[in-house]
Amino acid sequence: MDRLALKQDRKQIKVTGLVQGVGFRPTVYRYAVTHRLAGFVKNTSQGVLIDVTGTPKAVKAFVKKIQKHPPALARIDSLATRTLKPAGHKCFKITRSRTALHTEALITPDTAVCPDCLREFNNPKERRYQYPLINCTNCGPRYTITTGRPYDRPQTTMKPFVMCDECAREYLDPADRRFHAEPNSCFVCGPVHDSVESGPRFHKKHRHKTARERFISAFHTLCKKIGRGQIVAVKGLGGYHLAVDPFNRKAVLRLRKKKRRMNRAFALMAGDINVIKNYAHCSRSEQRALISKERPIVLLTKKDKRLDHISPDNNKLGCMLPATPLQHLFANKFELLVMTSANLSGEPLMSDERDLKKLFDHHVIAAALTHNRKIANKCDDSILQVIDGKPALIRRARGYVPDPISVKKKLKPVLALGANLKNTFALGSGHKVFLSPHMGDLTDVRNMEHFKKQVALFLQLFAIKPKTIVTDAHPDYENTRFAEERLYNKRVMPVYHHYAHMVSCIVDNGLDISDDILGIICDGTGFGTDGHIWGCEFLKTHRSTHRFKRLGHLKYFKLPGGEQAIAEPYRIATALFGDSGHKNDSRIKKLLASKIPIPQTSSLGRVFDGVAACLKLIDKVEYEAQAAILLESEVYKKYTDDQIAGCDLTYPRTITLKDKMYIIDLGLMFDEIKRDKNKTDTPTIALKFHKTIIRTLFETAQKIGFNKVVLSGGCFQNRILLSGLSRLFGKKCHVHKQVPANDAGISLGQAYLGGL
Ligand code: ZN
Ligand code: ZN
Ligand code: FE
Repeated sequence: MDRLALKQDRKQIKVTGLVQGVGFRPTVYRYAVTHRLAGFVKNTSQGVLIDVTGTPKAVKAFVKKIQKHPPALARIDSLATRTLKPAGHKCFKITRSRTALHTEALITPDTAVCPDCLREFNNPKERRYQYPLINCTNCGPRYTITTGRPYDRPQTTMKPFVMCDECAREYLDPADRRFHAEPNSCFVCGPVHDSVESGPRFHKKHRHKTARERFISAFHTLCKKIGRGQIVAVKGLGGYHLAVDPFNRKAVLRLRKKKRRMNRAFALMAGDINVIKNYAHCSRSEQRALISKERPIVLLTKKDKRLDHISPDNNKLGCMLPATPLQHLFANKFELLVMTSANLSGEPLMSDERDLKKLFDHHVIAAALTHNRKIANKCDDSILQVIDGKPALIRRARGYVPDPISVKKKLKPVLALGANLKNTFALGSGHKVFLSPHMGDLTDVRNMEHFKKQVALFLQLFAIKPKTIVTDAHPDYENTRFAEERLYNKRVMPVYHHYAHMVSCIVDNGLDISDDILGIICDGTGFGTDGHIWGCEFLKTHRSTHRFKRLGHLKYFKLPGGEQAIAEPYRIATALFGDSGHKNDSRIKKLLASKIPIPQTSSLGRVFDGVAACLKLIDKVEYEAQAAILLESEVYKKYTDDQIAGCDLTYPRTITLKDKMYIIDLGLMFDEIKRDKNKTDTPTIALKFHKTIIRTLFETAQKIGFNKVVLSGGCFQNRILLSGLSRLFGKKCHVHKQVPANDAGISLGQAYLGGL
C-alpha cells in the first residue's frame, strides 16, 4: 500500500452502450485486479461507472484495455473519463447497483451459446454436461425471458428457480464467467425438461431419478419420433419449433398440409457449415452471417435438386446453425433438420402450454420436448440474405431484438405502430429506436391481441412515455384504430406508408432527412395521398417541413377485385395484358369494362404478380411476395449472377412528364412479353422483365435528377432488382442495413418522424 500512497491517479470512467447483462463488470474486475487497481465498478441508469486508483501507467493501461478488449457481447457507445482526488480505496469491488430505474441500461438480445459453454456442455466431466439451458454472461437467453426492469433475476422467468449452492457461488463470484448471469442454472436447480406425447402434462410418472436422465430420455424419445418420420415440437428461445426429417418427403408433406403451407420454404438446421455446403453454395460473407452470434437463417443458393421439396418455389435454401445447446444436441444426431416456427397459418408464434395442447389437438405433433421455464417474449428466428457481399435482413427478430437502432438526431419519446402486414412497432427516445420483433399480419385478431400486449410490455421494459404516436396514414388499419381508442390523450401523427419507407432507409444509413435525397420506394401496397394504392414511387424529402414531394410513379392500373386481385394474380394479368388465359378471364374482362368502380394502383409488386400470372408461374398466392420470388427464381434456372449482371436486354417502355410528374408506362413491355411467350423461354422473359424494371427506375431517377438515392420497399428484397439498381447508381445509392426493406422496417421511419 505504501507504493500506492506514493504516486497514484484516480479516474472515474463512465461507459454507455450495451454494457449490462454482457459480463462487463466481471471483465472490468479482472482487468482492475491484473493492473493492481483499487476502486469499484457498478451499473448505473446510464450504463457502467468505474472508479479506479493506481499508478498512472496502470490506470492508463486499464482504460486502454477496456476500450480495446471489451467483453464479447458488449458494445461501447461512449467512454468518458475524469480525474478525481484519490479517496483511499484499498481494493477493487463490484458494487451492487441500488438504482431502481435503469432508464438507459439496455436489455440485450438472446445470443447463441458461447464456445466456453459449449465446451462444458460436451464434456462429461463438467457438472453441466448436456445441460440444455447452459449459459453464462457471454451467451444465452435475455430478451425472451425478461419480464421487467432492471434486468435482474426476479425480473425474468428464471424467478421461480432458486439457485443451488454451486450456481449461487458462481453467480456471486466476480471472477466467474457466471457472475450475475441472471439465467444461471444447472440440472440441480434449473428448469426441468420433459417429453410430452399427448397434451402438456408436466407431472407424469417419472421412472428416472435425475433431471439429466429425464432430459436425455426425453431427447431420445423425440429423436426416435423424428427418425420415424413424425413431426415434433421443440421449445426454443422465443417459441416452439416444429422439427421433421427433411429427407422424408412424406413427413415434410404432412407438415406442409398441417401448416397449410404447400409451397413456402422451410428452414433447415445443420450442425456445421460443411454439412450446409453439401446442399447449398455458401460464400465467405454468407458463412460469416451463419456463424454470427445472432445465428439467423441465411438464404443460400441450392446446389442440386435433392432438397427441392423443402423450398419448391425457389432456388434458395434457408439454413441456420444451432443457436441453443439443445439444438447442438439435435444437430449431432441429425445431419439436417427442418426447423420451422410452430404456428398455424398466419397465427402468432406458439410459445406456451396452451399452444402445445393445440398442436396435439390438431394432430400436428407426435411429441414435444419442453421445459417449465416460461417464454416471456415471443421471438421468431431472424432471416437474412447476402446481396453483393452485404447482409440484407428479411426478418429482424431473435438475436437482434431489442438492440436499438442509433439515430443522429435526439428524438422525443415516440411510439410508432408500423404497417399492417409484416408488422413491427418501434419505441424511440433520445438517440435510440427500439424495434419489436415481427408481429405479423394485424388483420388477424390473434396477431392484433399479441400486438397490444407487446406494445404494453415494451412501454414498461424501456420506460419510455411517448408523447406522440405514429400510425400509417391508411384510415382503416387495425393499429391506427388501436391508437385512437387507447391512447387518445397523446398526439396521433399519421405518416404516409412510402414516406415512412423512405425515412426508414435514410435513418438506417445515418443520412440526414434535410439532405437532398431521392427515394425510390417499390412495394406491394401502401395508402397514397390521392387515395390510390401506391407502390412504385419517386419521393423527395421536403426541407423545412416533414412532408414529402412525389415526383414520379408507375402509371395507375386497375386492380379488378381489389384485395381479391392480390390473392388471385390472374386478375392483374387480365388488367395488364388484356387477357390472362385463365378460365375466369372473360368475367374479369367484363368487370374491367363495366362501370363498377375498381381500385387503382401504381404498385410494382402487383406488376410482378401480373407478369408471374401471365407466364403461368402462379395461380393463387399462398404468401406475400410469392410471385416476385417465383419470377426471380425463374431467372436463376438459366442464368448465373454474372450473366444477369452482364445482360442488357430490355423491353420497350415510356417515361413521360405530365404536370411535373414523371409517369412510367410499361404498356409496350406487356405487349412484347405477350408476343415473347410463344417464342422465348420463360427464364429469358423473366430476366428481360427484371432488367427493364431496373433500367426504367434508373432512367426515371436520371430525368428527375439526384444526389443521393435510397431504395426501400418490399420489392428490394428481390436480389436481381437490388443488385442491378445499386450497381447502376454506384456510390450514390443507399440500401437497408439494419432493418428489412419490407414493411417490417416502416416503424423505424415512423418513429424518427414522430420523434423529431
Ligand atoms: Zn456461455
Ligand atoms: Zn444449480
Ligand atoms: Fe410497403
